[in-house]
Amino acid sequence: MTEHFGTGSMLLKMGIFDDPTCRACNEDVESMEHLLRECDGLAKKRLELLGVAYPQPEDYCASNLKASIKLLEWIFEAI
Ligand SMILES: [Zn+2]
Repeated sequence: MTEHFGTGSMLLKMGIFDDPTCRACNEDVESMEHLLRECDGLAKKRLELLGVAYPQPEDYCASNLKASIKLLEWIFEAI
């Protein structure tokens, strides 16, 4: 699943993007894990959609799939 999304670190590896810094918070490397669990810039949106600002992997399993997809869509449209 992660291979299909263009996170900063992946685009860097592919040579498309030369800065892996997260575009939402400018503080960390933009990996899928960072975007889904750690990013401060997206905490509010995660809270809104998933009910948890800093979710653990099990929170994604427990929450409904629609909310997770919505979050991913929002992330990749917004940044
Ligand atoms: Zn971030």
